[in-house]
Amino acid sequence: MTQTPRRIDLHLHSTASDGQYTPAEVVALALQRGLDAIALTDHDTTAGLAEALAAAENTGLRVLTGVELGTWHGDINEVHLLGYCFIPDDADFQERLRWMRDERRVRAEKMVARLAELGAPITLARVLEIAGEAAVGRPHVAQALLEAGHVASREEAFARYLADGGPAYIPRLRLSLPEAITQIHAVGGAAVLAHPFYLPDAEALLPALLDAGLDGLEAFYPDHDAAFTARMVALARRHDLIVTGGSDFHRPEPDGSLILGTVDVPPDCLARLEARAARYQK
Ligand code: AMP
Ligand code: FE
Ligand code: FE
Ligand code: ZN
Repeated sequence: MTQTPRRIDLHLHSTASDGQYTPAEVVALALQRGLDAIALTDHDTTAGLAEALAAAENTGLRVLTGVELGTWHGDINEVHLLGYCFIPDDADFQERLRWMRDERRVRAEKMVARLAELGAPITLARVLEIAGEAAVGRPHVAQALLEAGHVASREEAFARYLADGGPAYIPRLRLSLPEAITQIHAVGGAAVLAHPFYLPDAEALLPALLDAGLDGLEAFYPDHDAAFTARMVALARRHDLIVTGGSDFHRPEPDGSLILGTVDVPPDCLARLEARAARYQK
């Protein structure tokens, strides 16, 4: 089952957050699959970027700086914002990312307590051990639930306990959506709304996003069908937003195939992201 790799993938996770492969391994996979450009977009951390950039040196593969920030807006608990082409090495930015990761740990502890109440005891120590150096997240909790035999798969862990609004879902302290957009701009990056399909109503959120200075929309995404993608592309065009795309690769699919590099991404988005980011770089 070989899918033809496309050339760009701007949404990839590594062991710096909840992906299975190290940043260097993600780069190696991108090269194997003949990609021209990628962005590593780990949750609330830029810790994997240096390794990815080093691994891609002299290979012809372009690696953009990237990050995926978990934010909230109004009563929406999970609005994910991608940042691209920023300069990671900024003390305030890194301080905020550290705070976000600390809050992820606080939340993990609360989730473990909630899971015990729900009859699915696991230990915080094991969750943190699974996460290792990574920004700890629900996938690490899912893994602990699987190991403890409370569920038969990660999918079941989310379906029964961890999904947004699920019985063991707990929000964490984090930046609001406008704050996160401002933060990305402050480090000279372009801010892109991730997987709009997962929002209750992407169109309804648009005025707030535009007010906050959003730069782009991730219209191309594995879970977006043709109709939704077309709607997002039209929306982006109407509001001068950059259309981007990516696979949100974390690990092999259950059948062993890799989603990395299989999403159609408009090649002009690279130059557009860079030009937009340059506006914010003084
Ligand atoms: P967190 O960053 O801790 O809020 O966890 C969010 C991450 O959990 C996402 O980036 C995905 O990797 C994963 N995730 C979210 N929902 C699901 C789901 N329904 N099934 C499997 N994984 C999911
Ligand atoms: Fe993730
Ligand atoms: Fe996301
Ligand atoms: Zn992601």
